[in-house]
Amino acid sequence: MIEATTPAAVWDQLLAGNARFADDSVERPNSDRNRREELRGGQAPVAAILSCSDSRVPVEMLFDAGLGDIFVIRTAGGCVDAAVSGSLDFAVETLGVKLVIVLSHEACGAIGAAIKAVDEAEVPLGLQRVFVEKIAPSVIEAKAHGRAERSEVEKAHAGITAEHLVDRIPALQAGVKEGTLGIVAARYRLEDGRVETVSEHLGR
Ligand SMILES: [Zn+2]
Repeated sequence: MIEATTPAAVWDQLLAGNARFADDSVERPNSDRNRREELRGGQAPVAAILSCSDSRVPVEMLFDAGLGDIFVIRTAGGCVDAAVSGSLDFAVETLGVKLVIVLSHEACGAIGAAIKAVDEAEVPLGLQRVFVEKIAPSVIEAKAHGRAERSEVEKAHAGITAEHLVDRIPALQAGVKEGTLGIVAARYRLEDGRVETVSEHLGR
């Protein structure tokens, strides 16, 4: 059960759920019929999470969260477009989440494609060009700071996306400024199942 008290408390509880997942000791909270019926009247998730569509990154599972706990948006590479921004705005303004999390992950194919495009100065022409367009700025910025390793670019992409969202979504910016809303950038490791914090603004 995740209590929506403060942004920091929500993050601590999600990390505790991730520790249970990584340790093979999941509790699968809020996953039964009672919870399902309780939620018929509406939802009040404690956090919104933007993650990658990668099949190895099932967000609810890796935080051991249940029904109605987290509002999840997934696109390949965690790329942001108008629908993603609108979904996050809805989570903040209408649902009143306490925390927004941008989650990247180990061995992200979309990030790998963007790194390749930058390294080889060759941008694809098809529909998948969008991943390069959206992620290349993160690759360029990470490299400019000497963080050329793929894992470093994955962390940088989460951090830069989080900054970008705070800059672009007025409700998110206001909440973070007032300390009523937290923003966290994190990266999920396939290696050990752990979510590592890249940057956090939790008002603590
Ligand atoms: Zn990915």
